[in-house]
Amino acid sequence: MVETKVLTETSVFGQVAEYQHEQVVFCHDHETGLRAIIGIHNTVLGPALGGTRMWHYTSEAEALNDVLRLSRGMTYKAAISGLNLGGGKAVIIGDAKTMKTEALLRKFGRFVQNLNGKYITAEDVNMTTKDMEYIRMETKHVSGLPESMGGSGDPSPVTAYGTYMGMKAAAKKAFGSDSLQGKRIAVQGVGHVGTYLLEYLQKEGAQLVLTDYYEDRALQAGARFSAKVVGLDEIYDQEVDIYSPCALGATLNDDTLRRLKCQVVAGCANNQLADENVHGPALVKQGIIYAPDFLINAGGLINVCSEVQGGNRQSVMTQTERIYDITTQVLAKAEQEGSHPQAAATRQAEERIAAIGKVKSTY
Ligand code: NAD
Repeated sequence: MVETKVLTETSVFGQVAEYQHEQVVFCHDHETGLRAIIGIHNTVLGPALGGTRMWHYTSEAEALNDVLRLSRGMTYKAAISGLNLGGGKAVIIGDAKTMKTEALLRKFGRFVQNLNGKYITAEDVNMTTKDMEYIRMETKHVSGLPESMGGSGDPSPVTAYGTYMGMKAAAKKAFGSDSLQGKRIAVQGVGHVGTYLLEYLQKEGAQLVLTDYYEDRALQAGARFSAKVVGLDEIYDQEVDIYSPCALGATLNDDTLRRLKCQVVAGCANNQLADENVHGPALVKQGIIYAPDFLINAGGLINVCSEVQGGNRQSVMTQTERIYDITTQVLAKAEQEGSHPQAAATRQAEERIAAIGKVKSTY
C-alpha cells in the first residue's frame, strides 16, 4: 500500500471513488463457498497485475478495504519502476487452512479468466505454488509460476537486490558514500527477502543486528551472518546507522519513531508508514532519510513482469539495479519540493501514468 490515509467514505462506491479504482469484481460461488474480491485500480500503463491473498477477514468491509489499498499500491509500484503494468490485487475471504480446496481455487480462476487478461494474478499471503497451479488450470492469466512451469520463480532474491540498491542510494544521501562497509544495520524479519538481503550486507562488511518472530530462525541467521540477535521489540532501540524493516507493515508509527536512532530507513516490507501523511513528514523532521517502500521493494514485481512481457534474469537484474538511480532522484525531488520521499515517489508515479495516458489517447 502506498497510502494509509483514513478513508472518509464507508459506502462501497464511495470507497471505490475515493481510491479511484476502475473496476471492482465481487466473485461468489455457493457450491465451493468462494467469496472473493478483485480490485483493478488502474490499467493506463498495462494489465493490472497483483497477487491473490487468502485471509480470514473479520468483516467484508475489511476485505474490501484491503483489496482497494493493495491494488492501488501495485499501480504506484509498477509506474515508478517504469513497468508497463497496471495495479490490481485479489482477496479470497476465508480461513486458508480449512476452506481452501481445488474446486474453490479453480472457480476463482474462472473469474480471473472472465476478465480476459485485464487482471493477472500471482501468489500472495496464504497462497502456494500448488494453489497457483490449480488457478492456472482455469486461466492463463497467472504469473509468478515456478521455473519448472516456465515461470519466473521465487521473486525474493530480486526483491532483496532492489532493496539493497535502494538502501545504498539512501546511504549515499545520508552519509556521502554508498558503501555499507562498517555500517551498523538492524534487520527486522529474516524470512525470504531478509535472508537474501543479509547476504548482500554481509558481503559489504556491514555490522548486523537482527530479530525475527521465530527465535530459531533469528538464531540461525545470527550464526550464519555473524549478527547480534535481539528481541522483537528491542530492534527499535538499537544504536544503528540503518533500520531495515523486512517483516510487517506499519512499523513506522507514533511509538517507534521516537525510539529510532538511525539516519536511514530502507527495507522491503510493504506499507511501512502507519500513516504516510503523519509519519512521512515526521521522519524528515527527525533527519532520517526514508527510502520509499513501494519503490525499493519492486524487484519482485520486475521479476514477475519479465514472465508476462518478456525478459531474462540478466535484464531483470539490470532493471532492478535502476532502483538505485530512481531512489536518488526521488530523494533529491523530495528535498527540492520540501516534501517527504514517500510523497515525492507517489507523485513521480502519478506523473508517469498521466504522461503515458496522454500518449495512448490516440490510436
Ligand atoms: P517472509 O514471511 O518470508 O518473512 C517475513 C519474516 O518476518 C518471517 O521470518 C517472520 O517470522 C518475520 N516476522 C513476522 N512478524 C515479525 C515481527 N513482529 N518482528 C520480527 N519479525 C517478524 O516474507 P518475505 O517474502 O521475506 O517478505 C517480507 C516483507 O517484504 C513483507 O512485508 C512482504 O509483503 C514484503 N515484500 C516481499 C516481496 C517478495 O518478493 N517476497 C516483494 C515485495 C514486498
